[in-house]
Amino acid sequence: MEAAMPNPALARMVEEQIVRRGLRDPAVLDAMRSVPRAAFVRPGFEAAAYDDGPLPIGEGQTLSQPYIVALMAEAAGLRPGARVLEVGAGSGYAAAVLAALGAEVHAIERQPALAEAARMRLARLGYGRVALRTGDGSAGWPEAAPFDAILVSAGAPAVPRALKAQLALGGRLVAPVGPAGAQTLVVLTRRGADLYAEEDRGPVSFVPLIGAEGWPEEGAWPG
Ligand code: SAM
Repeated sequence: MEAAMPNPALARMVEEQIVRRGLRDPAVLDAMRSVPRAAFVRPGFEAAAYDDGPLPIGEGQTLSQPYIVALMAEAAGLRPGARVLEVGAGSGYAAAVLAALGAEVHAIERQPALAEAARMRLARLGYGRVALRTGDGSAGWPEAAPFDAILVSAGAPAVPRALKAQLALGGRLVAPVGPAGAQTLVVLTRRGADLYAEEDRGPVSFVPLIGAEGWPEEGAWPG
C-alpha cells in the first residue's frame, strides 16, 4: 500500500458520513481511513472524491457512497484472512477497503474496461493481491469458493442461488435486492446446507446486477 499521508478530507469523510451515522466497527473505520477514495474516481472528479454520495466511473456505472461501502463491510463481519468475493468491482474501491480489512479478496466486474482499469489501479496502489476477473459475477467464482463473505455491489432481482451455494457455513452474504427505487440491503447468514438466516438492513439504491441470475440486460431494467 502507498505510504499513508495525512488526509484531512478522508478523515472528515469517515467522521461525518460514517461514524455520525452510527457505524462503530474500529477495523472498518480504520480500513475506510486508509484507502484514498480520490485514487478511484475519474479524472476531473477528484474534488468530489470525499463527498457523501456515489460518483460516475464510466460505462454508466458508479462508485458507491462511502457510507454504503462501510455499511456493507461491517455487515459482512469480516475477520483478517477471511475469503471474500465482491460482485461488481467497478473502480476497485470497495475491493481495496476489503483488502485493507485483511481479507483475501476475489472480485468480479462485468464491464471489461472497468475491470482492466480497476486491476491496474489496485496494483499501482499496492492492492495487487486482489484477484479480479471480468465476467458475470451472478454466477460467482466456483473455483475459489467457499467464501466467508460475499458482497454484491449491484442490485439483484433476488439473491443469486449460485452465490448462496458458494457461501461457507457461518458466512455472510450482503446484497441489494429488488427493482430500481425499491431495493433493500439483505444480509444472509448461512446456518446449514440449505438454511439461511435473513436480515434486512434498510433501503438502498444501486445500479442493476446484469447477468444469468441478475436482470436480463441494460434497457430491460425496470424503473
Ligand atoms: N464496488 C464498486 C466500486 O467500489 O467502485 C462499485 C460498484 S457499481 C455500484 C456496480 C458494478 O457492478 C458496476 O461496475 C457494474 O458494471 C457491475 N456489474 C453489474 N452486473 C454485474 C455482474 N453480473 N457481474 C459483475 N459485475 C456486475
